[in-house]
Formats: sequence, structure tokens, C-alpha cells
Amino acid sequence: MKVLRNLIAIGLVFLVILSSGCSIKSTNENVPSSSNLTVKMLDVGQGDAFLIKTSQQVILLDTGDIDARDLLVNKLKAEGITKIDKLIITHPHADHLGGAMGVLMNFDVKSVYDNGQITTTSTYRKYIKKVTDSKIPYKQLLAGEHLEFGDGIKFIVYSPTKRMIDTEEDLNNNSIVGKLKYGDFSILFTGDSESAIEKELLNKYKDELKSTILKSPHHGSKTSSNNAYLKAISPECVLISVGAGNDYKHPHETTLNKYKKLNFKIYRTDFDGTVTITSDGHGYNVLKEKVQ
Ligand SMILES: [Zn+2]
Repeated sequence: MKVLRNLIAIGLVFLVILSSGCSIKSTNENVPSSSNLTVKMLDVGQGDAFLIKTSQQVILLDTGDIDARDLLVNKLKAEGITKIDKLIITHPHADHLGGAMGVLMNFDVKSVYDNGQITTTSTYRKYIKKVTDSKIPYKQLLAGEHLEFGDGIKFIVYSPTKRMIDTEEDLNNNSIVGKLKYGDFSILFTGDSESAIEKELLNKYKDELKSTILKSPHHGSKTSSNNAYLKAISPECVLISVGAGNDYKHPHETTLNKYKKLNFKIYRTDFDGTVTITSDGHGYNVLKEKVQ
């Protein structure tokens, strides 16, 4: 009887663990034994915000939209973040730059990087004034440069060039495109870059584009994700940061079908919530906040 009682007790404990822990689901693959890199595609609705953590630095790539500013700040605080070593803004559209003021006001931001494109929006003007007034080190990030995130983790920038920023007015196509590289593992971040840039990058960097994971360009818009570009990157997974039922109809069905045809695993914030990727530089693991 005692054995039976113990078995029932163990079963009950197991049930409690299951019911309290089932909001997180592991889905992968080559699970790393120790992880020095964590990348979170934060669920901030329609917009991009990626939190990148190494053992030495905290990096935030884009900041979501203006109306999700408090949500972003709360999510970062819930992660225990007080300091951000590098804030990177891919381009000054509101769904990437919108939360920057919230970040600058609530966290100790050590340095700021963007593509150097100046716009007339109040969101941009407030952001750049805050950076200047706070005397935070600022740098324009261009093709050919790279940033060090510690632990041998690098961010290699492919686009834009200085010429593009000086002559092209298209904000999306001037997005910072770069690869986060850690050993054999990599994520290609693409901002909202579209077909024209994809063709240029394919010509310029064909053999370098191959990445483990792709951040879907422009939230899965049909004006991005050329087939030849996707094949050169040839990722195992694609990350789409989108708001549920957004006005832009992102991600587009044509794009999703391309991803499916190429057997990319699709993770999207509107279905999966925040998506967390960890890697030790070889294997990686993906966790979804929501189970469908
Ligand atoms: Zn966008």
C-alpha cells in the first residue's frame, strides 16, 4: 500500500509540473549541452524586436512599434535586463524604431548603432535627440563592418553601403542586413529589405549567405524572399515577427508557400508567442512560448 501511495504522490507531482510548464515547448533537433548564445524573437505584435544575449553582452536588435513600447520594456524587465550593451536599429520605420525611446529611458544603453539614415518623423527625431543628449556612443553601421558580441560571437554586416544611404530613399531597402555568427551556427537578420537588395546580396555574397536560421525579410511580405536568395541562405528555420491579423496581411501566403516548399520550419510570433533560440555554436534549440 505504501508503494502505491508513493506512486500516486509521484504521479500527482508530475501532473503539477506538466500543467505549470506546458506553455513552453521544445521542438528541436541537436540540443546543445551548454548554451552561450540566446536569441529571443520577442512577441511585440506587428514589428521586430530581437533580444540577443551572450555571456558578456546584451544586444537589442530593433524595438517593435510605438504602441508596443510598454510591452517591450516590460518584457525586457521580465528578462532581468538592466543594461543593454548594443542597441541596433535596422531602419527608422516605426515598427522597428518605435520602442527605442522606451528602451533609452528605462535601460542603461551603452552604445547605439543604426544605418545612418535620417528621417523627419517625430519618432526618429526624439530617438536621435535622446541618444545625442545622453551622450551615448553612436555609430553608423555599414556593409563590410562587424560587431563583436563576446564568446567569439560576431555580427557581420552585408548591407547597406554608404552609397545606398546617401542616394537611395527607400527605407526598407536600406535596412541593416547582417549575419549573427557563432561557430557553425548562424542567423541572417534582414530587417525589411526587399527583392532588389536580395539580388544585390546574392551577387555580392552568394557563398556567405548560407545560414542556419533566417529572419524572414519584411515580416514575410511577398515583395521579399526571392527563391534564389532563399536557396542560397538555405536555412533550417525561418523566424517571422508579426502581429495577429495585421493590416499588411503579413506574412503573405505566397511567401509562406515558398518556405514550406523549401522545407523551412516556420516560427511566427502571432502563433508561437516569443520564440527563444539557444546555441552552443554547434547545435541549437528552439522554444515556443505558446503551444498551439
Ligand atoms: Zn517592418
